[in-house]
Parts: sequence; structure tokens; C-alpha cells
Amino acid sequence: MDRLWTASAWTNRLAGDLLDLLFPPRAEEGPLREHLPPFCVRCCAPGFLLCPRCQETPPSFLWARAPYRYSGAVKRAVLQLKYGKQIDRIPWLAELLEIGFRTYAATFPWDALIPIPLHPVRERSRGFNQAEEIARLLGKRQGIPVQKALLRVRPTPPQAALPRDERSINLEGAFRPQRNFDLVGKNLLLVDDVITTGATVRECAARLSESGAGLVCVLAVARS
Ligand SMILES: [Zn+2]
Repeated sequence: MDRLWTASAWTNRLAGDLLDLLFPPRAEEGPLREHLPPFCVRCCAPGFLLCPRCQETPPSFLWARAPYRYSGAVKRAVLQLKYGKQIDRIPWLAELLEIGFRTYAATFPWDALIPIPLHPVRERSRGFNQAEEIARLLGKRQGIPVQKALLRVRPTPPQAALPRDERSINLEGAFRPQRNFDLVGKNLLLVDDVITTGATVRECAARLSESGAGLVCVLAVARS
């Protein structure tokens, strides 16, 4: 057991060193880059007041927000957590998420935080779902229950690897609501670490709305 742990600690250490090489800390970037307007009022895509995608197909969520851009220190921490399994990054990312919560979401009467699910196979290989971990810390601090109300029933390649028009097709049928949660009329805040294209949160919000949810919004640490 000890040997196993040591081996895995070494693997993590190596992954961490590799990440340092790939994403060296850049002092000139500053530790954090805030995601400031102008951004789309619905999906917070940078550079728009209402982006073409939301004009064409309004999302099922009222708004999606992230307090930081996915770059610099935030990107490093997310990659260290997801691919280097450096779980000591969770509290800091949860703190950043809470800054976003206080900025955008504190005045809403949330019934639950809903983490964006990973496919069970990916969650097993990673050992955790980063969205669920940061949602749990936020929920504890804000007194809001965390409900794993969505399931990822189909593994999908990473969205960023696909052309834009294939992203939503790729996600069709990838998520479904858990049967044991009554979502009717509930105010739900979806939580993720990073919003990349917005396709995943759109798909998840659509499933929650179909289940009768009242208000659905999205909060992430960072936006690409
Ligand atoms: Zn938009």
C-alpha cells in the first residue's frame, strides 16, 4: 500500500514537473486574470454583449458566469489538479469559485448546487470529479446542498478537440437526470471548473430544465 502510494506520489510529482515545463509561471501575466465585461450576458463568452450563439439558440440557463479567464495561475492549478492529481489545489480553486459566487450568485435563493458530472470511467481513473470537489467546499461554506442530480451516461471526447459545429451533436444524449431527485420548481446552480465552449453546460442546463427546474444558472472558476 505504502509502495503504491509512493509510486503514485512520484507519478504526480513527475506530472507536476511536466506541467511546470509546459506552463511555466509567467510573472508578467500576474497571478490571476479576471474575466471582465464585455462578455455575453447569457453565456459570458468574451467580447460580446449577446453572442451570436445565444442570439441564435438561447441557452436553457439564465446566465453563466466565471470570475476568471482560463490562463496563468488558474490554468496551471486546473491542469495540476486534473492531470497531475494535485488535490491540494482544490481549496484554492474553491476559494476562486466562491469569489464568483459572491459576485454573481449570492442574492439568489438556491436549492442546490449541481456539479457537472464526469463519465464514471473517467472519474474512476482520475479518482475524483473536480467540479464536485469544488462544489462541495462552496456548498459547505454557503450552506447550500450539493446534489449529484445529473449523470454522464456516454463518454465523449474533450470538446476542445472538436470543430465548433460538432460540439453540441457530440453531447446529444451524453447526460441524463438522476431519477431520485425531484427538480420541479427548484433553483439550481450548475458548477464546473472551466467553461470552454459552453456546449457542456448548455446540454446539462437543458436536461435540468426538461426535468422541470425553476431557475438554472451556471458558475465556473474560469472561462476560456
Ligand atoms: Zn452567449
